[in-house]
Amino acid sequence: KKPQPIYKRVLLKLSGEALMGHDQFGINRDTLHYMVSEIKKILDIGVQVGIVVGGGNIFRGVALGASGMDRATGDYMGMLATVMNAMALQDAFTKAGIPVRIQSALHLEQVVQPYIRGKALRYLDQGRVVIFAAGTGNPFFTTDTTAALRGAEMGAEVVLKATKVDGIYTADPMKDPTATRFSDITFDEAMKRDLKVMDGTAFALCRTNGLPIRVFNIGRPDALLRVCTGHEEGTLVHL
Ligand code: UDP
Repeated sequence: KKPQPIYKRVLLKLSGEALMGHDQFGINRDTLHYMVSEIKKILDIGVQVGIVVGGGNIFRGVALGASGMDRATGDYMGMLATVMNAMALQDAFTKAGIPVRIQSALHLEQVVQPYIRGKALRYLDQGRVVIFAAGTGNPFFTTDTTAALRGAEMGAEVVLKATKVDGIYTADPMKDPTATRFSDITFDEAMKRDLKVMDGTAFALCRTNGLPIRVFNIGRPDALLRVCTGHEEGTLVHL
């Protein structure tokens, strides 16, 4: 029998790096297929999925900012990178027979539709995957913040931050073997301990709106499904 979902609608944040796999740069085909197959598992049990995709595998604004280029220009380039990732993901979903739409915060009408909240909500209700591209459309923000924003706008019950680590630890588990994982933690406690969950703006947005964040390891097969069926997985940050 099918496992029962604990969420009706989730906002999944996929970083650009998550699409890179073991490569140094760009989009890895096998990784793309893996992501789609993992997401399919939660679609199959009826979870509605919005995705915010990053762009760090192609371009990160801060990198150019540091090298002397105008920060805002670099950030717009970063937003365009997220559109490329969104298109690669869309292609992979389509090939897997999964209905999908991209909505972009920047107007690029020949390639993607603009972000229209009402339309996105309707797509989600219809069981289509909606990929939110181009971040918030503003420089000086991140795709983590976009995930918090779109998550709140879509009325998602949780922001799922897909990472390479198993959750939030008391210390960096790579450096400190005694570090332990929190199964859950409040926003206040995470702040007090100065734990890096998402960037400050994203964190504040989620906290103000009572939108919980779950940090989990997307590289672990079935982790996303386990998260959405209420199994112990990753770390939940909540009010
Ligand atoms: N970006 C931006 N505004 C946004 C979202 C993203 O300017 O609302 C730019 C920023 O330069 C960022 C880049 O796009 O470095 C890629 O996004 P991000 O670093 O969040 O991607 P990820 O780390 O998730 O791959």
